[in-house]
Amino acid sequence: APRVLSGIQPTADSFHLGNYLGALRQWVSLQDTHEAFYCVVDLHAITVEHDPEVLRRRSKVAAAQLLAMGVDPERATVFVQSQVPEHAELAWVLGCLTGFGEAGRMTQFKDKSAKQGQSNTTVGLFTYPILQAADILLYSPEPGDGERVLRVPVGEDQRQHLELTRTLANRFNHRFGDTFVPPEAFIPEGAAKITDLQEPTAKMSKSASSPQGIIDVLEEPGPMRKKIMRAVTDTGTEVVYDEENKAGVTNLLRIFSALEGTPIPDLEKRYADSGYGQFKKDIAQAVLDTFTPIRERTRELLADEAELDRLLALGAERAGKVAARTMDTVRERVGFVGRG
Ligand code: ATP
Ligand code: MG
Repeated sequence: APRVLSGIQPTADSFHLGNYLGALRQWVSLQDTHEAFYCVVDLHAITVEHDPEVLRRRSKVAAAQLLAMGVDPERATVFVQSQVPEHAELAWVLGCLTGFGEAGRMTQFKDKSAKQGQSNTTVGLFTYPILQAADILLYSPEPGDGERVLRVPVGEDQRQHLELTRTLANRFNHRFGDTFVPPEAFIPEGAAKITDLQEPTAKMSKSASSPQGIIDVLEEPGPMRKKIMRAVTDTGTEVVYDEENKAGVTNLLRIFSALEGTPIPDLEKRYADSGYGQFKKDIAQAVLDTFTPIRERTRELLADEAELDRLLALGAERAGKVAARTMDTVRERVGFVGRG
């Protein structure tokens, strides 16, 4: 089977509706057709200031949510990035192949560093896309691994980073001999870009959205309903898809359509005469129906922390085997002295 690789940052106490509909739900279906590697990328989470105990907790809660959503640790390799030290090692090598100007062109760095302010912007935030390239290329299938395909599901926000990964893979291959399979970006079927409930032209984001603008997977039913009822719409009454003039309603239609599996035109028809109130009530119910079992399962998984740690150690061991093999090849090709 082709390989698929994806990661998510443990930068909040819960994942959100955008993460779920834009990425994580697809992680579950992709494990049926791919050899999947899913990584909680805690090394990325320290590119901005953080609290150690909070980070450790969030990494575990992140892993528990993935399993609760249906990622199967028997079929997919689920692991925490820092438990596989090859990620940082390969990032160093790739960093030495990356031009300074090339790294400086990454728009996400420009956005995030502008938000942080110059004195709080770290070199780690600058080199983050190189670490991301390492996260992906470590799992590059070798000759003999069967299908040599490496797929990376990406939202628009990650396209530029994947392009850099491909460039670095090709550059390494050119200089040191064929080693990496350049990864293919794809937008998984059914993936939806979800915007902020209060600011429907901005993406829903763990780090940028206000509490009122974001729906957490682990949120309690009461506050969740309220947020959806208070989502920004417009002064009209019509439930119609219109990205330009009705960004709020359009976002809600996308959420509903993705959750229920109903095409948007059918929803427009269903709510043609009912106004926004009933529409929002039904969306809130659809969100609850999806997230309540995930929330409960996450709680159960976190109640047995030893078992969760065991599953993660297992994932790290499986990922580590692949990563170690790749790094052996890289060390040899780059010219490092073998340990014999
Ligand atoms: P941060 O603000 O810390 O960057 P984030 O909310 O952007 O957090 P990430 O961990 O960066 O989340 O991304 C995890 C996955 O979720 C990625 O595949 C990303 O493309 C996807 N994703 C993030 N936000 C959305 C959104 N609003 N709609 C759809 N997909 C999203
Ligand atoms: Mg992000």
